[in-house]
Amino acid sequence: MRVSLSKINVQQKACRMDERMMQSKVTILGIPFDNMTRKDFLKELYIRLNHDQKTFLVTANPEIVMYAQDNQDYYELLMQADFIAPDGIGIVKASHALGTPIKERVPGFELMLGLLEIADLEKKNVYFIGAEEDIIERTIAKVKEKWPHINIVGYHHGYFNHADPEMIEKVKLTDPDMIFVAFGFPRQEKWISNYLSQVTHGIAVGVGGSFDVLSGKTKRAPGFVQSLHIEWLYRLIKQPSRYKRMSVLPKFLQEIYKQKKKEKN
Ligand code: UDP
Repeated sequence: MRVSLSKINVQQKACRMDERMMQSKVTILGIPFDNMTRKDFLKELYIRLNHDQKTFLVTANPEIVMYAQDNQDYYELLMQADFIAPDGIGIVKASHALGTPIKERVPGFELMLGLLEIADLEKKNVYFIGAEEDIIERTIAKVKEKWPHINIVGYHHGYFNHADPEMIEKVKLTDPDMIFVAFGFPRQEKWISNYLSQVTHGIAVGVGGSFDVLSGKTKRAPGFVQSLHIEWLYRLIKQPSRYKRMSVLPKFLQEIYKQKKKEKN
């Protein structure tokens, strides 16, 4: 039986594609992303939680990747993370362009919701820190309403001197299983890295503007906008002040193109 060469080529290509799909880490501009679905992340985090393993979770979008490119200290800090989740369609698209596709976008907000569900089921100790004073109050009220079995061991707004060790000392005393830090990057990851070096267990994650969303201060894009993967555009229209932050995106695309070219040679 004769099998055409082109058929073999197609099969080999598909195999190589499968192998790449199996890659557990996908590196984009030096940042090693964990190639897992939201469900896989939550499974792993659940296991670590119940084995009392200290965990630093980062959810990184293109802005974070670009910031890490220009700031060595921040880059090194990200390298201490136990997991880096691909937050944003830009990361997923870049991974496809580089030929090492990431399975799916894992928004930080959704990981936070999943972790809160786990905390509710397991009656875990949770600390919330970040956002403006009235927003953190509203966030806590929402958490109590939606996840009544969470043991809220403490909360605080995010406008204090982040270099002051007093807050870390206070949080440590409550022995949280999870700590959500919502200061925006790079502040939240810097604070977490200081905090984690002083404790033996718990999951710590920076969740950016998630308390603003959970409290109802800002709205997530409607479902159809999310499914079109243009949530970033929706946010930009709602909050034009984000323009400056987003202006790194063309540079991100340019860098991806450069990485792709380098890998080809
Ligand atoms: N935030 C905070 N402390 C700060 C700065 C910001 O708690 O010193 C909070 C802010 O209120 C918001 C979240 O961090 O809830 C994300 O803020 P923003 O979107 O300004 O940060 P970015 O994501 O732009 O870095």
